[in-house]
Amino acid sequence: MFDWLIVGAGFAGSVLAERIASQRGERVLLIDKRPHIGGNAYDRYNEAGLLIHQYGPHIFHTNSEAIFDYLSQFTSWRPYEHRVLAEVDGMLLPIPINLDTVNRLFGLNLDSEGLATWFAARAEKRGDIKTSEDVVVATVGRELYEKFFRGYTKKQWGIEPSQLDKSVTARVPTRVNRDDRYFTDTYQYMPANGYTRLFERMLNHPNIKIMLQTDFGEIRKEVAFRRVIYTGPIDEFFHFRYGKLPYRSLRFKHVTLDQPWRQPVAVVNYPQTEAYTRVTEYKHLTGQRHEKTSLTFEYPTDCGDPYYPVPRAENMELYKKYEKLALAQQDVWFVGRLATYRYYNMDQVVGQALATFRRICLEVAPMKERAVQPTVAAE
Ligand code: FAD
Ligand code: UDP
Repeated sequence: MFDWLIVGAGFAGSVLAERIASQRGERVLLIDKRPHIGGNAYDRYNEAGLLIHQYGPHIFHTNSEAIFDYLSQFTSWRPYEHRVLAEVDGMLLPIPINLDTVNRLFGLNLDSEGLATWFAARAEKRGDIKTSEDVVVATVGRELYEKFFRGYTKKQWGIEPSQLDKSVTARVPTRVNRDDRYFTDTYQYMPANGYTRLFERMLNHPNIKIMLQTDFGEIRKEVAFRRVIYTGPIDEFFHFRYGKLPYRSLRFKHVTLDQPWRQPVAVVNYPQTEAYTRVTEYKHLTGQRHEKTSLTFEYPTDCGDPYYPVPRAENMELYKKYEKLALAQQDVWFVGRLATYRYYNMDQVVGQALATFRRICLEVAPMKERAVQPTVAAE
């Protein structure tokens, strides 16, 4: 009998497995339907010996010292600041939009103050900023919105930015200085030996048993367990009772080239042309030296594995109905990007999992203590 069945070996499930096994001394069965641990953060060495991310580029960044310290138990780090270029009007320009983006695109020579005035003259007045279109046109105006955001967003999500919650494009800031980093978090690193090694160390505990290529639906009646932590899609758990929650998917095309480099930075975005949204060249992220180079092209699609919850009001309403069912479940915890239908980064999922562990400790007495309770009560 396992004390816990944990469904999903991504960050949500693995952090909870590690905490429960090491801090509560309880027995965990961790399952994943895929043939590997790590969830979407899984990385591997390909046929050419290059470290690639199976599910697209994963860059770790956080402002939380606690989350960084927690993960540092399982990996050393390679300092890495992410930079992205967007191919716009035939040029490779910094995104987030900054002083250099505008000066190069329009052949101007503005300083920061001049750019703030330039934006103000173009920004559209919007009373209530609700959508992903509002956020951008209210900051930089329609022309830059059309060039950098509209096409990319339509490709990525399959709908107009005006149909998407503001939180989506608000992930990408606008700057009037020359800072061309994608993130400004305090901690920006890549795990020195990759994510999969980090997960292997996290899960290396005698109380954790891992079963891969194992689906919750198949195993739930076959294995004895007391409690469940579920990190898969929440609508699937409830057999789609209220209908399907939309998740956006991607098709990844992995390519290895017989040349050392292909692009000047790790990620190039394609907001105007191409069927793919972005191209990642891993050696920039990993620091690996190799005479060849590996790339991933991302093609957005509705079919396939669920990768992105789609933030818009009607989907949140549907999610809330599932959340109500989830809250009424005895002994089941829902954690992670798919189970809580939140567009979370890795650090946020780790934070959510650590918070869930604290809640579990408050709500559930450790198994050993509870095991003696019925005996005591019977006497
Ligand atoms: P997942 O990693 O999705 O893990 C859930 C696991 O549950 C999966 O392995 C799945 O196979 C398993 N599962 C589901 N249903 C079942 C079932 N019925 N039975 C058994 N197993 C099941 N975050 C960042 O911080 N930085 C980035 O640069 C970044 N880039 C990203 C790029 C892409 C293309 C994507 C898709 C995401 C990116 N993220 C990034 C987000 C990051 O992937 C997530 O925050 C994180 O991986 C979520 O962890 P999770 O455990 O919630 O979910
Ligand atoms: N986005 C865009 N153009 C870009 C980069 C981002 O329109 O060049 C929008 C797009 O809607 C995207 C969102 O901003 O989905 C968030 O971008 P981010 O890079 O955070 O996406 P993720 O890495 O999560 O796929």
